[in-house]
Amino acid sequence: MSDATYGFDTLQIHAGAKPDPTTGARNTPIYQTTAYVFRDADHAAALFNLQEVGFIYSRLTNPTVAVLQDRVAALECGAGAVACSSGHAAQIMALFPLMAPGKNVVVSTRLYGGTVTQMTQTIQRFGWSAKFVDMDDLDAIEAAVDDDTRAIFCESIANPGGYITDIRAVADVADKVGLPLIVDNTTATPYLCRPIEHGATLVVHSLTKYLTGNGTVTGGVVVDSGKFDWAASGKFPSLSEPEPAYHGLTFSETFGPLAFTFHGIAIGLRDLGMTLNPQAAHYTLMGIETLSLRMERHVQNARKIATWLEQDARVDYVTYAGLESSKYFGRIATVCPRGAGALFTFAVKGGYEACVKLIEELKLFSHVANLGDTRSLIIHPASTTHRQLEENKQRAAGADPEVVRVSIGIEDADDLIADLDQALAKATA
Ligand SMILES: *Cc1c(COP(=O)(O)O)cnc(C)c1O
Repeated sequence: MSDATYGFDTLQIHAGAKPDPTTGARNTPIYQTTAYVFRDADHAAALFNLQEVGFIYSRLTNPTVAVLQDRVAALECGAGAVACSSGHAAQIMALFPLMAPGKNVVVSTRLYGGTVTQMTQTIQRFGWSAKFVDMDDLDAIEAAVDDDTRAIFCESIANPGGYITDIRAVADVADKVGLPLIVDNTTATPYLCRPIEHGATLVVHSLTKYLTGNGTVTGGVVVDSGKFDWAASGKFPSLSEPEPAYHGLTFSETFGPLAFTFHGIAIGLRDLGMTLNPQAAHYTLMGIETLSLRMERHVQNARKIATWLEQDARVDYVTYAGLESSKYFGRIATVCPRGAGALFTFAVKGGYEACVKLIEELKLFSHVANLGDTRSLIIHPASTTHRQLEENKQRAAGADPEVVRVSIGIEDADDLIADLDQALAKATA
């Protein structure tokens, strides 16, 4: 099947899947197995040498997970994808083949709080470091790049403010300096934005959010565009030089546009072990089948609720990029023409105290540290997801102490507005 000829709604249901060859099962079975029987000793040897592609052991590959990988790769217009155990695992899996002790990554100041912590503190244990820059300042990105920089990293629609990154402009800087651009597309999903079409090299996702869609799974995925020349600069020896663990095989020569994907499985999953389990892959496949329908409703509800909040006297400001008042409104047409997502913050008059009261008074909105659920969710980022950051970094990330972050669900928008109305009344009384 030539997936390229099908539309998004078709691909989200069919890409990567076919009836089970043994039983005819129409839905993708959950292959709940750790290992796979080899045909004979030669078959086993060929698989272990990467001379033949197949299933050995579920830390590396599993048929249910493989369908998910193919499906997400198709939706993102990538050459291949590797699923893993969480969004944070996906970020490490994306950086791992590129980095080495002493190397750095240039990252956006506007990121999910957990990513800021991962990039500020934890990656130092590997001898890696991150340099934070405002991705709207293209000169600053270029100035931050040095001989040891190995990648540029940003979010398409940035958590928590819902700010839109001009991916094409950042990709042009990455091209100019010869580095891969990694885009975290979690909050947009491939339905709203496809970073590879704007020049991104790699796309990472937390499957935990909209792709599964109902808060039942923790998972992640790395998608490779297949377009980056890993051998050109000599900066990516893991991909372009002989690999001792596979008898001197060179990933970029042997696998071409699938080099990054094969490395992710054969080295990344094999040795880091951040594997997605087949049950989680199954839930995520079920979620993806309705991705476009859910995202349309998420966006429609978010637009209605943000518009209502913006005109309300008890609210200071709303950051939703789908509002004409947003400085990012002009980027929707090029970056995410189907809408600016459903994640944004708003400032309650009365500051921190009023935010806390609002959250306590809401009945339909759940107070949780998650986003991209069918249910509407709310959190106060400065005291939770972005708590580890100093106040100036919180503000740079869009997690100002006086704002709450909402992830608008797919319930009736009028019910959500009524809930916000009653809670705002109590919070600002
Ligand atoms: C949640 C999230 C992550 C981390 O994903 P987990 O699945 O929780 O590890 C990364 N980036 C963004 C934008 C997120 O929202």
